[in-house]
Amino acid sequence: MKVKVDADRCVASGMCAFSAPEVFDQNEHDGVVVLLTELPSAEHHDAVRSAVRNCPNMVIAIEE
Ligand code: SF4
Repeated sequence: MKVKVDADRCVASGMCAFSAPEVFDQNEHDGVVVLLTELPSAEHHDAVRSAVRNCPNMVIAIEE
């Protein structure tokens, strides 16, 4: 799995960091998503898929 984010579209809701804290964080100043790894390990794939579903502005894209 490869993960990409379009930070320009991020509305800083924090749902991604809540769903998959090992993969997503938020900028401490404005809350915009920070991608911690483009290539999460298999144990985090379900959490990343959950983050994709939960993101309110379709910021996160994955290639399986
Ligand atoms: S869930 Fe989406 S909009 Fe919210 S912080 Fe993460 S990437 Fe940004």
